[in-house]
Amino acid sequence: MNVLKDWYESHRSSCDCSNNHYPLTMEEVVIGQDGITQLHRFLREKGYDHVLLVCDDHTLSMVNLITCEELKSCRFTKSFLMPDDQGDVLADEKALVRVLIDTSSDVDVMIAVGSGTIHDVTRFASYKMGLPFISFPTAPSVDGFNSMGAPIVVNKKKITFQTHAPIALFADLTILCEAPQEMVAAGFGDMLGKYTSLVDWAFGHTSANEPFCPTVAKMTREALSACVANSDLIKDKDKEGIRVLMTALIQSGMAMAMFGQSHPASGAEHHLSHFWEMTFIEEERKQLLHGAKVGVAAGIIADLYHNDVTHLLKQDPNSDDALVKGLIDMIPSGEKLRRLIYQVGGKATPNELGIADHLLQESLQKAHHIRDRATLLRYRNSLTLTS
Ligand SMILES: [Zn+2]
Ligand SMILES: [Zn+2]
Repeated sequence: MNVLKDWYESHRSSCDCSNNHYPLTMEEVVIGQDGITQLHRFLREKGYDHVLLVCDDHTLSMVNLITCEELKSCRFTKSFLMPDDQGDVLADEKALVRVLIDTSSDVDVMIAVGSGTIHDVTRFASYKMGLPFISFPTAPSVDGFNSMGAPIVVNKKKITFQTHAPIALFADLTILCEAPQEMVAAGFGDMLGKYTSLVDWAFGHTSANEPFCPTVAKMTREALSACVANSDLIKDKDKEGIRVLMTALIQSGMAMAMFGQSHPASGAEHHLSHFWEMTFIEEERKQLLHGAKVGVAAGIIADLYHNDVTHLLKQDPNSDDALVKGLIDMIPSGEKLRRLIYQVGGKATPNELGIADHLLQESLQKAHHIRDRATLLRYRNSLTLTS
């Protein structure tokens, strides 16, 4: 039942690199046809009295499925997050206060019923109130369900707070298969971003001695390869395809958890995505799905590394161009990545996503400042930009 926990522990116990590898804090990780039944069993076993379910418009029906069965001695209440004028639920001050108001003093556990944003709100609120939370993802849209970081919009700026991971995760395949195609494509896009993040990570290690673990890199690549090999089943929202995608997203999250940092799953493609997101928040524009942005950004970064960066490396007497070229060659062409995104029904270009060319150009010049990390984008900008 807990195949993923075993997968995690076997990698953790076998890795002999010098980095610290954290034990998994989740008690159970379940992806199956009977996710709701398993969740009920877990709640009963834990003896919880009062469960608060956090949801929004899109996931209220799932909350109703969870709460329709009476559990002996366990009471359910819900916290419903309202969308803003653009129709988005943001993980911001307003959403957090909503959850705090809805958490009566006898609540002993929270459940995040939804996608990434609901998880971020629940993760942060439960942490601040000293309560555990359970993850119940309703779409395979992002790899952050089991992370400890909660990105919260404060004063229209996104700040990531280190909080806590869920104590358990229950993913119900019947529910996940009904997720909108664009959310499935977003999850796939978040995974495609690992092609570029893994190379940025290896580059950061060789060029700036950033910490690196070959086992964690292998775990992430294994998850990525499974997604790409099953893109047809994922596109069709076939149960097996969705199981593969959801498993890969959790595995990517687990790889980050084991390493204690986001290096394996987040490189220049995520920095571009964050830059676009912050611009959209400032301009009060309707938000784009995280994974949709990451997938598009991965295609852009792939093109940039195969062309600009490869040229720069040849001219740079300080670089080990053969080694870095070898890394870049592990990334498929931008064209191949865009084909994969189209294959699962996603949007593959900035234009299709509504990212204007001036924003794209600005982000390519500035996004490397988002994190202090030695990516190839930062390398490129350090050589081509004067500031
Ligand atoms: Zn991501
Ligand atoms: Zn290691």
